[in-house]
Amino acid sequence: RWVFHPADLSLISLHIVAEVFSSVASSYDLMNDAMSAGIHRLWKDRFVQKLDPGRGRMNILDVAGGTGDIAFRMLDHAAKVHNDHDTLVTCVDINPDMLAEGKKRLLSTCYANTPRVSFKVQNAELLDEIPSNSVDLYTIAFGIRNCTHIPLVLQQAHRVLKPGGIFACLEFGKVSPPPLASLYRQYSFSVIPLIGQLIAGDRDSYQYLVESIEKFPKQEDFAKLIEDAGFEISGNGWEDLTFGVAAIHTGLKK
Ligand code: SAM
Repeated sequence: RWVFHPADLSLISLHIVAEVFSSVASSYDLMNDAMSAGIHRLWKDRFVQKLDPGRGRMNILDVAGGTGDIAFRMLDHAAKVHNDHDTLVTCVDINPDMLAEGKKRLLSTCYANTPRVSFKVQNAELLDEIPSNSVDLYTIAFGIRNCTHIPLVLQQAHRVLKPGGIFACLEFGKVSPPPLASLYRQYSFSVIPLIGQLIAGDRDSYQYLVESIEKFPKQEDFAKLIEDAGFEISGNGWEDLTFGVAAIHTGLKK
């Protein structure tokens, strides 16, 4: 007789996440533009600008890096702003189909055939191929809400960072003031699955994405989880973008 065990739930949830991202991989970049009217680019620009990578050679780990968007932006910033051509990014993701899209993109960049960007299949909750105390900057953009155990992800982030290293997360947040929150909720539950259906022919995956945003903790609660994992946070620990539709959280490993 099959007896339900909580670990089964984790497996089911991992399986759903894997299916969702395999099915959206080829249309992922286009869909991001369509869903956010291009605003996700501004959020990512702000994320990179705030972290200001390339002040000296850095070892960056971009977790749940998908198609490599953050990885390429980090290196472009390092080159443009700091004339740094040595910083390295390891882009890890649990989904090989998303990484395959990233590898395709790599071919059309100046980082092709260089060691500047590498891709690895890794679960953010384990990071078993990433040594402890080896990373200067850990980034995770729109990825942590898809992970089953957020505290495990934060624990691993803390383990792989060097003392003095920075944890940085760009993720959807809770919108305020309340009238705007209710407008945003209506938009996300009706328009996003529809765009998913029209552009990617996949309503269900985008319905899942909207629900995962709804379930993710509010900014205060997520900042508390980051602190609980051992990070030092400064101020309240986050910066809201577009009324909290997205937020950047940072923490320092002492
Ligand atoms: N960071 C990229 C960006 O901003 O464009 C991709 C974000 S995409 C919305 C979320 C990514 O998280 C997917 O590529 C998915 O495969 C990945 N992901 C989900 N669960 C994961 C896990 N446990 N470990 C690593 N990656 C995971």
